[in-house]
Amino acid sequence: MKKISVLAALLLGLVPVATITLATLDHVSDPEAAHSPSLFQFLFTTFSSLSGLYSLALLCVAYILVQKVAVLKEEVEDLHFRHRDLIREHEDQKNRNEVLAATREVALVLNKDVKFEKVLEEVLRIATYLVGPRPPEEISIFVRDEYTKRLRPRARMKDDEVVCDDKLDGEAVDARHVQGVVESGRSLVEADGDVVALTLPLVADREILGAMKVRAVLEGDREERETRIGVLQRNMEEFSRVVALAVKTPDLYTRTIQDGLTRLFTKRHFEEQLRIYFDQARREGSNLALLFVDVDHFKKVNDTYGHQTGDLVLREVAATIKAGIRSYCSAYRYGGEEMVVILPRTTSRQATLAAERLRKKIEAKTYHSDKKEPVKVTASLGIAEYVPTMAEPGELVKRADEAVYRAKQGGRNRVSLWGSTGDEAARAETKKKPALPAVSGR
Ligand code: GH3
Ligand code: MG
Ligand code: MG
Repeated sequence: MKKISVLAALLLGLVPVATITLATLDHVSDPEAAHSPSLFQFLFTTFSSLSGLYSLALLCVAYILVQKVAVLKEEVEDLHFRHRDLIREHEDQKNRNEVLAATREVALVLNKDVKFEKVLEEVLRIATYLVGPRPPEEISIFVRDEYTKRLRPRARMKDDEVVCDDKLDGEAVDARHVQGVVESGRSLVEADGDVVALTLPLVADREILGAMKVRAVLEGDREERETRIGVLQRNMEEFSRVVALAVKTPDLYTRTIQDGLTRLFTKRHFEEQLRIYFDQARREGSNLALLFVDVDHFKKVNDTYGHQTGDLVLREVAATIKAGIRSYCSAYRYGGEEMVVILPRTTSRQATLAAERLRKKIEAKTYHSDKKEPVKVTASLGIAEYVPTMAEPGELVKRADEAVYRAKQGGRNRVSLWGSTGDEAARAETKKKPALPAVSGR
């Protein structure tokens, strides 16, 4: 550009000046010469050619300027695009940071707790921040059941409240497309007006554990909404990997303490827990009761309807026990069709009343075979109470087992308290003292 300017300056400045100078000198040296034009004529001719020259030069300059403007325009457009890309990159970085922050928070939760309910509650709360300023309408987590292999809703967050497992009404959770997403391993987006439903597979260690479903309202015009759906999908796909880990970690722990068939705690966990409660009763002088439940003639159920039905019945009996004890009591599968309940701070009389209620519930319920035939079962229950002379928890277990044996001997479908006469349960029931509050679900 600089060279062109110098050249233009020469053309427009030096050349005319030199021409005029030369012509003037020529005219002054011989003004009478016949062939020599007058100074006026000469200047006129010179200026005419100069204006042509100027026009040419101006055209050149205009052409150069137009070219330059085109280049500048391109550069501006380029800058504009780069600016847009930078904004997008900035947004992406911001989203990635949010996902990273959420991941870090989940890691902290997993470090702190291994209880499924606690972990999932925290994880679902963290997920809400990723959805956007407006909290999601619903987030639910489905996990494949280890035993039935079917997908089961395990946690749901709705109206800022998280409900897990037994407290969750599975029927009320929207499970559309969940099966399909788990089978395909690919996420699915459904948009209906402002409402967006996102279903994502939960993958940990290349294994699909289940799915997460997010329903949210995304406001804005069509273009804005589409952008936000894209961002939400990306964020959630990334976050779902962390959720999968968060589901898997407590599940690994749960598997070590929970029986796959009945979902009661395992015998090993029972032994650990009983030791804790036993020591506590001894230390504090508090009550402690143990309740054994043995399904009557269970072999017959298997023989009549098959093992699969036996499993179904066992599962239902376990659920009845779990739902029929108080929140601070805990139920375990002791082995086969034998289950045991630890009742802390419970006297033998209260335990007898609770056992009688359970017995009635188990008896009243109609179970179903795998072919949907009605099946009826009863159970014999044995109770033992902690006494300070006991040296170790094994003594309590032995007494409860003996009490069950006595209930069997007494004709089954009854409650027996260790050390009492055979009609202890009946007497406890008739007294009807409202010492025991209504049984609650656990
Ligand atoms: P009783 O009234 O004396 O307790 O009779 P019972 O038939 O219940 O007792 P028994 O100890 O003779 O048989 C227990 C049966 O429970 C035998 C076993 O096959 C069955 N069983 C144990 N665990 C399971 C299980 O996980 N699933 C199924 N389907 N059956 C089981
Ligand atoms: Mg048995
Ligand atoms: Mg039995």
